[in-house]
Amino acid sequence: FIALLTLATVGLLTVVGEPTRSLLPARPTWAIAFVSIVVGFAITEAMVFHVEFRRQTISVSLAEVPLAFAVIFLGPGLVVAARLIGSSVGLIRRRTPLTKVLFNLGLFTAEAALASAIVRSLFGLDPSARVAEILVAVGVATIVAAVLGMLVVTTVVAAHEGEFVGRLRSGTQSSMTVAIAGPGAAVLSLGASLVSPGLVAIPISLMVGLWAVLRSNASLGQRFRDLAELHTFTTRTGGSLFVSEIAEAAVEEVSRLIRAELVTLVLTEPDGTLGRVFGSPLLSGTVDDTPFEPAHAPREIIPVEIDDDEGHLGTLIIANREGLSATFSPDDLDRLDRLARQLAISLRKARLHEQLDHDAAHDRLTGLPNRTRFERMTDELLACDPLRTVGVFMVDLERFKEVNDTLGHTVGDQLLVEVGRRLREAADPTDIVARVAGDDFAVSATRADRSSLEALARVLLASLSAPVRLDDLEVALTANVGLAHREGGEAASLLLRRADIAMREAKRGHLGCEVYRHEIDRTNDDRLALVGDLRTAIELDQLELHFQPKLMLADGSVSGVEALLRWNHADRGFIPPDVFIPLAEQTGLIHPLTSLVLGHAARAAAEWRSAGLDLVVAMNLSTLNLLDDTLVGRIAEQLDRHDLEPRLLSFEITESSFMTELDRSVSTLQRIDALGCPLSVDDFGTGYSSLTYLRRLPVKELKIDRSFVADLLLEDTDEVIVKATIDLGHNLGLKVVAEGVESEHVANRLRELGCDIAQGYGISRPLPKDKLDAWLAVCPYEVRRRREPAAVVHLDQIRPRRSA
Ligand code: C2E
Ligand code: CA
Ligand code: CA
Repeated sequence: FIALLTLATVGLLTVVGEPTRSLLPARPTWAIAFVSIVVGFAITEAMVFHVEFRRQTISVSLAEVPLAFAVIFLGPGLVVAARLIGSSVGLIRRRTPLTKVLFNLGLFTAEAALASAIVRSLFGLDPSARVAEILVAVGVATIVAAVLGMLVVTTVVAAHEGEFVGRLRSGTQSSMTVAIAGPGAAVLSLGASLVSPGLVAIPISLMVGLWAVLRSNASLGQRFRDLAELHTFTTRTGGSLFVSEIAEAAVEEVSRLIRAELVTLVLTEPDGTLGRVFGSPLLSGTVDDTPFEPAHAPREIIPVEIDDDEGHLGTLIIANREGLSATFSPDDLDRLDRLARQLAISLRKARLHEQLDHDAAHDRLTGLPNRTRFERMTDELLACDPLRTVGVFMVDLERFKEVNDTLGHTVGDQLLVEVGRRLREAADPTDIVARVAGDDFAVSATRADRSSLEALARVLLASLSAPVRLDDLEVALTANVGLAHREGGEAASLLLRRADIAMREAKRGHLGCEVYRHEIDRTNDDRLALVGDLRTAIELDQLELHFQPKLMLADGSVSGVEALLRWNHADRGFIPPDVFIPLAEQTGLIHPLTSLVLGHAARAAAEWRSAGLDLVVAMNLSTLNLLDDTLVGRIAEQLDRHDLEPRLLSFEITESSFMTELDRSVSTLQRIDALGCPLSVDDFGTGYSSLTYLRRLPVKELKIDRSFVADLLLEDTDEVIVKATIDLGHNLGLKVVAEGVESEHVANRLRELGCDIAQGYGISRPLPKDKLDAWLAVCPYEVRRRREPAAVVHLDQIRPRRSA
């Protein structure tokens, strides 16, 4: 384009000829004229100011004034030369980019040559021409030159950015004023100087005055605009408490206020890492790798750091002043600085707010969302697309509480953090992983189909299968996962509840994973109904206590009985304690239930004592009973009421029961022991063996679980376990009881192994008290009698026999 302009200029100059001959040679000498005109161009170019018109920046210079003098007093070649020299001084002073300098110089050359040619063709070289004629010619020439400039600039911009017609229209409108102002001033100045050289001072001082007024006006207006801008900017960005909203508003406002083509805001995370990116994808790689449109390739980039006293919040990157010719000015930089300071304040506030919000929505320990947040996020996920396959998972750790209590909270915490980490890793980044309660984690995920969700359940489970290493400790985890598929318009809370039900089902059946089905829920409804019935049964004392004798293997005497609860449900018939005891434990009914058993057991013990028998009545205690501070008081009360020797009422506890909240449980056990009641460890061998604790516990008896005893004669390993347990018990000074003795052979073998006491169907089933009394009367075993029979014997029908 520059080449084209230059060519046209050379062409014009040859057509016009006489490149150095001026029109009015008689007036000032051409050297003085040339120098003053060069100075004139330099001044007008340096004093150029920008007028904003319809989002277009128009540069206004009064270059027409020196041009008017040039075309009159200099030959066409010198006109061009003066224009070039003067303008390049001005352009270079303004640090205009090189291509723009070249383009402008080309354009100025063409304008100057054209103006010169027009004046010459209109006015010829007639030295006698009148001033008016000269002025008309100069006016036409400068107007044509201004219009040419406008057309060329518009064409180039349009070639770059399209919309030629639109640009031409707005360009024409805006150039009208400019096209009149410049030539007007030019004609005026020239006219005055032609009349008398001294008069030139009048238009020139007028122009300087006008320029100064415009200039100061512009800067005053600019200051008002700056204030208004800052105000809108502050209201927009400060009106939000969300970082992303602020960032979006900031990008929008900055690009509007600074009129930049590209504005990118790169936030810095609180930990100093690169955070979210807003606005134009200026930094390729951070947003996407789409290359720039050629028209939007960055020509000029300004990075602005968003900082405050507390640190770095992000970087605002601004590129390309709108409009081809425009560049950023020092004013723009000042404004950017102010906006950046304001943005820092807003961002800091929002970040603080988001942190508080995050803390309220997240679990501090694992950093995962909490239940509220999980449900909110999952609801959003569900709402996103009502047809998507979404699943909610509930993950529960078995025995976490025990780990927490035995190994301490620090270890428990570390374990939870690790579980959270593993689940987060096992899930996809877009899945939601949360810690919804103590040791309960929840996940929600979207997959292509249900089987993929079910596969995820197994993946989650598998992620927890490896033991967790904590310092020098290795903790094995057992987890259960329940999955609830979205079926229709369920809310997150409902899906979570269903996942929980499925998880419990998985736990109950030792399945690892289970998917929610409505049947499970129905069983659940069943369970609820059963709980209601159990409550009533306890209140109405409809539960019955049965007693199963314990036989001393050494001398074949009945030394005691175990009290076992029976529930004969009016509609459902016999409900085994393995069903209703856990139910009572889960619902808190275990406390009234235990009170009930305690009352009956104490009374039975007292009755047997009164009957002159020396039978120890053992009753079972649950885990939760050991955490009940009122238990020991109630035991003492029962002993008191029946005037019962404490040794006649014993308590069976399972190994795992005192592992929960060890301190409290052990304290309860010690207080029971202090009352004088014997304690035995039930189901020994089924829990995880904790000999260390066993040694410290005030127990008198160890009961080998019936699962080892039943197959004693069939399975070698069982015999090894039973033998080892017997030896172990004896080493600890405990009596050893074998449960589940179903045959004489087993009893014999146990006796050979040194077992102290046997209990089982082979001796007697658990029986109601009256039936047991009858059994005691007829059984082939000796029933221990008190050395000094009690004063009153109520049950004289008992006639114990000596075994043969
Ligand atoms: P447990 O304490 O281990 O009770 C022994 C269980 O073994 C009883 O089952 C008893 O009927 C059964 N049993 C006795 N001899 C044999 C035998 O030779 N073969 C077989 N296969 N089983 C035998 P039951 O009565 O069904 O009680 C189950 C569990 O329910 C008890 O286990 C105990 O943990 C709990 N339980 C029962 N009554 C109470 C109670 O009053 N309070 C508490 N907390 N738990 C109780
Ligand atoms: Ca028991
Ligand atoms: Ca047992």
